[in-house]
Amino acid sequence: MSSEEPSIFTRIINREIPADIVFEDDDLIALKDINPQAPVHLLVVPKIPDYENVHELAAGDPALLAHMVAVANQLAAEHSDGQFRLVFNSGENAGQTVFHVHAHVLSGGLAEGSLA
Ligand code: 5GP
Repeated sequence: MSSEEPSIFTRIINREIPADIVFEDDDLIALKDINPQAPVHLLVVPKIPDYENVHELAAGDPALLAHMVAVANQLAAEHSDGQFRLVFNSGENAGQTVFHVHAHVLSGGLAEGSLA
């Protein structure tokens, strides 16, 4: 990742592109997805661009992955009813379009929805 163009999320983190940012700390940023697939659809993104997907992150920095899950839980409580789906697309054939690891936090009226 680091040898390539900065990802869209790095550009948002650097405030080069506007986004609806709902959370930020030293390690993570969270923003509203531009194309929401649920009543609440947030993205939780590590600030470092080193990890392309969740299995690289889990192997390289499990504490950061755990922090993402904790923040997802907190955001679901703040923005919805505390119940949520946490989705990591991993690979193009799985729908991944941005190769800077991120979690989709989907919440609100999902019981009858699809898994997409
Ligand atoms: P992926 O398909 O890689 O799992 O998820 C990438 C997500 O980023 C998509 O849900 C897409 O809607 C979202 N996204 C792409 N570009 C932007 C953007 O410029 N701003 C925001 N807020 N979300 C974006």
